[in-house]
Parts: sequence; C-alpha cells; structure tokens
Amino acid sequence: MKVFLAEQLQKANRAVASDNRRLLAAHGVTAINIIGGPGAGKTTLLEKTLERLAGRVKVGVIEGDIYTTRDAERLDRPGVEVIQINTRGACHLDANMVGQVLGELALPDLDLLFIENVGNLVCPAEFDLGEDCKVAVLSVAEGGDKPAKYPLVFHEATAAVLTKSDLLPYTDFRPEQVTEEILGINPELDMFLLSARSGEGIDRWCDWLERQLARKGFAIA
Ligand code: MG
Ligand code: ZN
Repeated sequence: MKVFLAEQLQKANRAVASDNRRLLAAHGVTAINIIGGPGAGKTTLLEKTLERLAGRVKVGVIEGDIYTTRDAERLDRPGVEVIQINTRGACHLDANMVGQVLGELALPDLDLLFIENVGNLVCPAEFDLGEDCKVAVLSVAEGGDKPAKYPLVFHEATAAVLTKSDLLPYTDFRPEQVTEEILGINPELDMFLLSARSGEGIDRWCDWLERQLARKGFAIA
C-alpha cells in the first residue's frame, strides 16, 4: 500500500502549476481561474464576456466539468478555442489536468485564457492551476451566507463577482452587507455586482479584465 499525504499532493500540484504559469507567461497569455458553486452563473458570465471581447481579445477557454460537454458547447464560437476537461468524478481541476491540455491550445495566438473550474465553492480554491488570478463567482440567488461559510475562495481570489443582480428583488440578498463581509475576508478584492442576463455591470467587469491584460503588456485596440 502506498500512502500520500495531502501536503505531498499539494507540493506536486504547486510544481506543475509553476510549469503552467511559466508556459503561459512565455506566450503572454493571461489566465483567469473562475470558481463558483453549481448554478452561480459562471458559464453565462463567460458567454456575455466573450461577446464583449470578440474581435478585440483572442480568448481561449478551458471548461472543467465532472461530466458532459454542455458548457463547452455554449461557449464554442468562431474565434474562441474551447477545450473541455471531464474530471469523471473529481470535484475540482488540478494543475496536472490543465497542464495536459495547455499543449492542445494555440498559445501563441491567445491573449486571455479563462479556466472555468468545476462547479464547487470549496476545494477548487485549494488548487493552484498556474493562473494569474482566481475570480470567485457567487449569485445573489445562492444567499449571502456563503462567504462566511466558504471563506477560502474569497481569500484566494483577486476579484469577486456577485451575479444575477436582476434577481435581487426576489431574494433577501443584501449586496452592501455581503460585500462588506467579503471584504472582511479579503480587503484587497475587487468587487463586482452584475447581471449577465440584463448586461448591468458587465462593462465594469470587462474593463477590469482589460486591466489584467494590460499588466502583461497587452494593449487593446
Ligand atoms: Mg458552467
Ligand atoms: Zn474537489
């Protein structure tokens, strides 16, 4: 019998993540790891974002799901390279899974790579994939108690996106209060409240993405 400790696995994951990060940096690709529970609106946010960035930023997507290619199909469109990873039961992506598909992407042709993690607010936060930053996605329909219950993802993220703002009138979600709670976990976070459905707040989010690209020297026309 072989026994591996979580620390050993994490160390191995960090080493592969560093390789991924170096490879992405060598090609000037900014990678964003999108993390949120099932139904938080990650794919819908990406759909809207791809629409906005079309023709200006060359985007690739790695889509992580336990099973099915449904989300990848939703994002598949001319000019966007989409790769599906089916984890077959695993509830998060790890650096190895991402590393194995990076070679399938035409990295020299990409500016931005979204990695939509498996729908899960818990363990994806523990795994460095080699991304430039993590973005936590929480829908107003999920309830304002989630940041306090699952603080790690907010701690690890660079930005937090509160989605489905069009549903606010039908929920008890208090955006100001939840924002305050999230900033209590991580005061450095950039916060967004938006609706991919109505388009409210999408401009501010896309401006933020462009600033992340600019950090790597990418100038948007
Ligand atoms: Mg999805
Ligand atoms: Zn997991």
